[in-house]
Amino acid sequence: MSRPFIIPVFLPHHGCPHRCIFCNQTAITSTKQNLLISETLASWINEFLNYKRRKRHPVQIAFYGGNFLGLKTDDIKRLLAEATRFVTAGKVDGIRFSTRPDTIDRRRLDLIEPFPVTTIEVGVQSMDDQVLAAANRGHTAADTQKALTLLKERTYEIGLQMMVGLPGDDETKALATGRRLVAFLPDFVRIYPTVVLANSALAECYQNGSYSPWTLARCVTCVKNLYLLFCSQDIPVVRMGLQPSEDLAKDAALLAGPYHPAFGHLVHSEIFLDTAMAAIRPEKSNRKAITLKVHPRSISKMRGLNNQNVEILKKKI
Ligand code: SF4
Repeated sequence: MSRPFIIPVFLPHHGCPHRCIFCNQTAITSTKQNLLISETLASWINEFLNYKRRKRHPVQIAFYGGNFLGLKTDDIKRLLAEATRFVTAGKVDGIRFSTRPDTIDRRRLDLIEPFPVTTIEVGVQSMDDQVLAAANRGHTAADTQKALTLLKERTYEIGLQMMVGLPGDDETKALATGRRLVAFLPDFVRIYPTVVLANSALAECYQNGSYSPWTLARCVTCVKNLYLLFCSQDIPVVRMGLQPSEDLAKDAALLAGPYHPAFGHLVHSEIFLDTAMAAIRPEKSNRKAITLKVHPRSISKMRGLNNQNVEILKKKI
């Protein structure tokens, strides 16, 4: 899958029926402009097009940060019409957006049908009803099942987002969610650790002691197992963890939780470590050294952050 050049259009909390417990989109995006206004949107897109390098392809306008199909019908049509002008002009290849499962229905899918939408990302978060309820999602796993069945009738590229470490979540539930996601055969997935953002309802739970975020190590291992599950089914995992620039506008927004700027690297490093550990046979205990051959591009993953893997392996031989 070639990485698209994304023109992000953040619509923080627009179209959301309420606030999910973990969410504070204003902490996630630094955008201050109201991109619901057509003129502002057009100049925003034009500005981003200036940054595009010639080779980057495809170019997509992405409506993120809210619940796109939860917007008013007129706004959905107007935003898509504005974005379509760029597609018609040959400057952009397609449109993508993220949305909640419970706003996907036939009426809304028919509404967007005439527009060049290529990709729809669905915030699944969990397929466990207790976890969904504790996160104040306001929908059930059955709603997600229904929505994705409807979506599958169309030809969109489908991305699914899931979270790990929400209140009431554990490794078994996270893996069960992963398996349900696999069954939908998405084109790609994103896995996000739950972190505590300032001014979210989860921040209150954290402060009053009713929620403890997962440790980084626990989260990395859980995401690793999910990553391996998706890889075993050839489902690309395009993101693991929040990106410092794109997903977190300012450090002050993060109160606690398993955040690491190189979260994906940590996951890959643990996979390399597991593989090396499994390859070391315990019966040869008089060894002084071992040689590990890895692709040059993977050396840092094999070494681990701050050479952690090397130190662990030294103790094993
Ligand atoms: S998680 Fe999605 S639906 Fe929930 S408040 Fe945030 S943007 Fe809105």
